Formats: sequence, C-alpha cells, structure tokens
Amino acid sequence: MKIKYPEKVKLARLPTPLEKPENLNRRTGGPEIYIKRDDLTGCATSGNKIRKLEFAIADAKKKGADTLITCGWLNSNHCRATSIASRKAGLRAILLLRGEKPEHYRGNLFLDFISGADIRFLTPEEYERRDEIMEDVQKELLEEGRKGYPIPAGATFPPGLWGYIGAMDEISRQLNDIDAVFIPVGTGGTYAGLFIGKKMLGLTCDIYGINVEDDSEYFVDEISRVIEEWNGFEGMNITFKREEIKIIDGYQGEGYSIFGREEISLIREICMDDGIILDPVYTSKGMKGLLGEIKKGRFDKNSRVVFIHTGGIFGLLSRLDEIEKIVEIE
Ligand SMILES: *Cc1c(COP(=O)(O)O)cnc(C)c1O
Repeated sequence: MKIKYPEKVKLARLPTPLEKPENLNRRTGGPEIYIKRDDLTGCATSGNKIRKLEFAIADAKKKGADTLITCGWLNSNHCRATSIASRKAGLRAILLLRGEKPEHYRGNLFLDFISGADIRFLTPEEYERRDEIMEDVQKELLEEGRKGYPIPAGATFPPGLWGYIGAMDEISRQLNDIDAVFIPVGTGGTYAGLFIGKKMLGLTCDIYGINVEDDSEYFVDEISRVIEEWNGFEGMNITFKREEIKIIDGYQGEGYSIFGREEISLIREICMDDGIILDPVYTSKGMKGLLGEIKKGRFDKNSRVVFIHTGGIFGLLSRLDEIEKIVEIE
C-alpha cells in the first residue's frame, strides 16, 4: 500500500543506512541482525526525534507558530533536536527541562545553549504540571505577539507519529521478509509509529519494544492511548489488540537514565565489534534486550531482526563523570 503522508519539512538525512554488522552477527550466530542507523539522521540533529520533528514542525508552521515549546529531562535528546531543528526551520524554541540548572553545561544541554534555546529549569513538582506550564508559556508568547506550538515530551503526539510510520515504510523497502523490529521505548512514540506503519503496509513482522523505565503494562497502555489519539486526529481506523503491542520487561535496570557496568561494557563491546556507538540511556538497554531475547531462544536462527539505533551519542558524552566511576578509564 502507498501511504499518503501529511506535509513535512526536510530535516533528516533519509533514507538512513540499514547495515548488517558482521562481527555482532558472527558472535551471536543467528538470527540475522540488521541495524537501522537512525543515529545517522544528521550530526547534531541525529536520532529518532528528528523524524518526528519533520512532521511536527510542518504542522507548527502550517498553524502560523513562530516558537516551539517542548519539555524533557535535563539531558533530553528530544529537546536538543527540537532546539537545533527550530533554527533550521527559522523558528525559536523554549525548553522546559526537568532538573536543576547545573554548574557546567554538557552534552545535549550544551547544544541547547549553543542553539540559543530559551531554557527553563523545572523542579520535579513543576514537571508534573508541565502541560499547564506549557499553556502558560503559550499565553506569555501571545502577549508578546508571538505564537507558540506545544510539543509533548519525545514529540509523542499525532503529528510526530508520522515520523516512524515513514521509517517502517523505509525499512520495508530496504529489506524483505523481516520477522521482527526491535527498539528501546522511552515515551512510546517511536513504537507507536512503527506499529501503525506495519499495519498500514500490511506487514507481518512483530515489533518489540524494550522499556527503559517503568514496566511493560504502563507502556502498553501508553502506546494504545497514543495510537487511539492518532486514529482520532487523522480520522483513521487502525484496529489492534493489546497483545500485539509487545513490550519486553526486565532490561530497564534501576530506572530511567540509570545505568551501570553492564551497559557500559555492552557499549564498548558493540563498538569494538563493528564501530557502532550506543548510548547509556536507551540503545544499550535495547541491545541488552535483543541479545537477552536471542539467548532465550525467541528467534529462529535464520530469521531476520532489525534493531533500530535511535541515536543518543550526546547523552553518552555528557555522562563521563559517572562512567569514570563505573569503569576505569586509562
Ligand atoms: C527518545 C529516545 C528514545 C525513545 O523513543 P520514544 O519515541 O520516546 O519511545 C530512544 N532512543 C533515544 C536515543 C532517544 O533519544
């Protein structure tokens, strides 16, 4: 089926490569593992959020907005991508970040600064009320004669979902007979987009998400909710059963953005194997999940699995102090 997409602004370098890492495949001995390099959608605009922002920003412009308002934690990949993408699109960005203003800006936060975002730090209590605060910011802008466009965390809302509907489309044109797609799940928007894409294209592959925090129940609810929201928004009727949303628990460790020796060792291993760099918050947990499930015998030796590398290198580079405490760096 040919999918009819809404308008988008071009921000990502597409299609991203689909690679078959030789050494990782030799080491695991099957299934065939392919890595979809969405960490290569750009340099500072790399990662999964940029695909979502192509559609979100087109929607913002259509609505006459001049400022994007979004939120996330202090070191959010999504907020960094939004800030830089806003400049590419001739807009401004206001970022509501959960956390205290740190003494030194590192990684994503540093790039937020470089790209001139209006950065506001929120306490955990304020962050709970972020929707309300985003509305207040919109009012504040209106008084200045400007117009804001709110984007929820991770750009997980109907316009953003189109990004990964497009990615599923792209992957299916790069490789036939895919049995499974594997991704880390943070807000669920990437999962939801792939899932809708698979349905629209009539593909039979399973989509597996590895939750990087909380539990599978929570994410199955969240993903179901956002797919229904998309259905309403787009006037579509994608039907699905809860059981089709496959979120595999048990690889999140102690919670969001908390990592340890296992994640860091895996990041080094994958890099030494094939020169691919994972991040500590999402993709290392996703890869841990994929390798764990292969060990458990979830896949036939000759089946085809696509792991989506969703990016996050700036998140890795901002955590050097913590990483140094976990492993010795000579
Ligand atoms: C945001 C993010 C994810 C999670 O994507 P969601 O759509 O929020 O589930 C995964 N990997 C990286 C690197 C991210 O920045």
